Amino acid sequence: MLPITSTLDVLIVGAGPVGLMLAGQLQRRNIHYRLIEGRGQRQPRSKAGALSPRTLEIFDHLGVLDEVIDLGLFFRAVNTVVAGQTKARVETCSQGGYAALSLSQFDCEEILEADLRRRGGRIERATRLTSLRNTFHFAEAHLEGPAGVEKLICRWVVGCDGSASLARKSLELDGDVDSPVQNFLLGELELDGLQPHGEVWNLISSSDDTPVAELTPKAGGHYHLSLAVPDEVDPSDLDPLELVRQVAGPLLPPGAVLQHLRDPLLCCIRPGLLPSYRHGRVLLAGDAACLQSPLGGRCMSEGLQDAFNLGWKLATVARGEALEGLLATYQEERRNFLDHYRGGPLALGMVPPGDSGAQPGDRMDRVGGLERPYVRRQARLIDLFRMGQFHLVGYGGDWSALADLAERVGHHFGSELRAWAVLPANSQGAEVPEQLSRLYDRQGCAQATWGPGPGAILVRPDGHVGWRGRPQADEDLSRFLSLVSLNY
Ligand SMILES: Cc1cc2nc3c(=O)[nH]c(=O)nc-3n(C[C@H](O)[C@H](O)[C@H](O)COP(=O)(O)OP(=O)(O)OC[C@H]3O[C@@H](n4cnc5c(N)ncnc54)[C@H](O)[C@@H]3O)c2cc1C
Repeated sequence: MLPITSTLDVLIVGAGPVGLMLAGQLQRRNIHYRLIEGRGQRQPRSKAGALSPRTLEIFDHLGVLDEVIDLGLFFRAVNTVVAGQTKARVETCSQGGYAALSLSQFDCEEILEADLRRRGGRIERATRLTSLRNTFHFAEAHLEGPAGVEKLICRWVVGCDGSASLARKSLELDGDVDSPVQNFLLGELELDGLQPHGEVWNLISSSDDTPVAELTPKAGGHYHLSLAVPDEVDPSDLDPLELVRQVAGPLLPPGAVLQHLRDPLLCCIRPGLLPSYRHGRVLLAGDAACLQSPLGGRCMSEGLQDAFNLGWKLATVARGEALEGLLATYQEERRNFLDHYRGGPLALGMVPPGDSGAQPGDRMDRVGGLERPYVRRQARLIDLFRMGQFHLVGYGGDWSALADLAERVGHHFGSELRAWAVLPANSQGAEVPEQLSRLYDRQGCAQATWGPGPGAILVRPDGHVGWRGRPQADEDLSRFLSLVSLNY
């Protein structure tokens, strides 16, 4: 018999980018969790190499955007090259205030781990999940680590254990992915004559228009290479650089000369999306739930967004503040996102007639130029959302109705709700009930974004609009609250 050393709310398996992001979300919300990682130390080699604009926004939300920018490199453009000819060059533009950035997985993990430590969290390294099973009310996990073996009884287990996920295998979900296995070669590639630098190069086969390789520029002047090895080539027959020469060489633009390939990694991937991200008390996130082709550079970003979406929901359910149905929206929203996220089940209401700005389900508008009373420093809304609570933002007056609404919604969320009244710059004397925190719209940015109002926006902890309407509560708000709060 194994000793039961503890019971806990959440066990996170795997401290890759996704496990670290989820741990950070639970740590911020004081959930009793453990984060285990099979490896004794971080792998210096990076698999993933880029972050999407939305992921940068999440890092901004976490308060670590500057660190990400310091270690990363913004691409200037993305080139599509077919058989040596550049067919398209799309300059990078900022999407809603953020742009895609090249950042190694190693650096991404370092930043997330440092943030976790600052908040008092830690990784239990060299500790592996060895088996997992669902019981009626719990998940039973067996671990092996420096202190020996142990059996844990967990309310929830989240498998963030990557493409070969044991969590997924233990639940026998593996057979649900039936796409063919494909070989890829990854590495850090030095090459001369590829101009201009600082741009992404997608190399496309001329025979069947399929992507063959992706070169992502890195801060050191080299490129992160992801290469799909054609089925007819046996990669074990060739030196890795020679393999790159044969497969990607003929597709490179004229003048580009391959020089050196560092840290080559040959890997075999079965891209696929599981039909379900949850089985009983076990949830899956990141590569464990959805492994995409390394070409396209979206995998790490998608996984980080999984964890950001799941974190607040899991915390709310673990604290007993919402029914487990809230967790079902995790998969629905993430799937919707993969099919171009718009809305999702956890978004209700409408933009009041005559107003404008984010619809329910959209990310909250990026409003800046706001000032708190007595503080001569301008803030953006996102700066005020760092702690990951629900926020009720009112604009355009009717402050007493907004205060009543804040009280009613606050009753359901307790300390998890912060209510803000966004006032025009010239309204110093306005009577605003004291339970509303004031923000002055110094530059008129809020009014230009949302319109005259009065209106109210309930923002979810992940920065999406959950409900929007007039400050007088409506039926949609009641439906929204019944989804996210047990007290309703
Ligand atoms: C071979 C390969 C190549 C890739 N290439 C690219 C690329 O070129 N570009 C790109 O954007 N993305 C690429 N990806 C995807 C990218 O690496 C991931 O999306 C990203 O790392 C997020 O992954 P994750 O945290 O879900 O999993 P991972 O980064 O794989 O982390 C999982 C963690 O779980 C730990 N673990 C596993 N099993 C256990 C266990 N039983 N107990 C405890 N810990 C465990 C592992 O040690 C690991 O640290 C690639 C993925 C793979 C598998």
